[in-house]
Amino acid sequence: MDTVSLSGKELAAAINADTKDRAAALTGRGAAPRLALIVANDDPASAWYVNSLRKSAERLGIDCATVDLGADASADAIRQELAARGTDGATDAIMLQTPLPSGVTLDDVSSAIVATKDVDGVSPLSLGLLAAGLAGFVPATSEAVVELLKYHDIPLAGRHVVVVGRSNIVGKPLAQLLLAEDATVTVCHSRTADLAAVTVTADVVVAAAGRIGLVSGKHVRGGAVVVDVGTNEAPDGKIVGDVDAESVRGRAAGLSPVPGGVGPVTTALLMRHVVVAAENARRS
Ligand code: NDP
Repeated sequence: MDTVSLSGKELAAAINADTKDRAAALTGRGAAPRLALIVANDDPASAWYVNSLRKSAERLGIDCATVDLGADASADAIRQELAARGTDGATDAIMLQTPLPSGVTLDDVSSAIVATKDVDGVSPLSLGLLAAGLAGFVPATSEAVVELLKYHDIPLAGRHVVVVGRSNIVGKPLAQLLLAEDATVTVCHSRTADLAAVTVTADVVVAAAGRIGLVSGKHVRGGAVVVDVGTNEAPDGKIVGDVDAESVRGRAAGLSPVPGGVGPVTTALLMRHVVVAAENARRS
């Protein structure tokens, strides 16, 4: 079977074109959309990601301020900064970069991000709104998976989707979004007894575990679709996914590449959320 590559590049370009127009309209009315990126680490991969977000924002006409609190910032200091940005009229959108300082978890600080500016949907309020099926910002990576599948005309209603990974920023919100699309959803995790026995029953498998090569040919039913969310650094320094593409290719009907699949759509959706937050703020 030919395995179609579910590229995210064209979709990301279309989202970015719309975002750029909307950012220009806001700028034309007197204020460009403004994103605050809060950083509290000295991790090189995070620095690289922050830099690429800044460049994306710049290309789209979004003002981006980076606030570096240092790798030894306390949970209190991070919460204070997030709260201050929440009430700051010059900030439309807030993103907290991970990893956080040792001993500080996202759960310790995420509730300090006001939901109206929480463009990556990480606060408990945003996650609760999503679970209840109410309007709010949803985590961009989870949304990117659903948008990528829709863009490539993969039906979801009534189909069995198996999500591998149950984190609060990818697996769990993705399960909620898939339920909203009327998929039948199974969520697997590190304590799932026999992963392959579950994933082979899926019409769509989404790998979001952060484990190189976790999903291979034996995990995939012939003709199923596979989305690879993983972004892992291989020993040779290359970025690779969670899927062993070689063994899945020829078996799956479609497979998203890493890089070039979920990643660019995630960044594009984040930037769209920034513009939406700015539009909402100008209306209120
Ligand atoms: P986390 O480490 O927070 O969660 C990983 C999840 O995978 C956990 O639920 C864990 O189970 C599960 N898991 C780990 N090992 C196994 C296993 N052997 N079998 C089944 N399940 C397993 O990671 P994130 O959710 O933050 O990220 C997941 C991946 O997605 C990473 O590679 C990350 O880099 C990537 N990512 C990509 C983005 C993009 O834009 N493309 C954005 C965000 C993340 P348990 O709960 O039991 O521990």
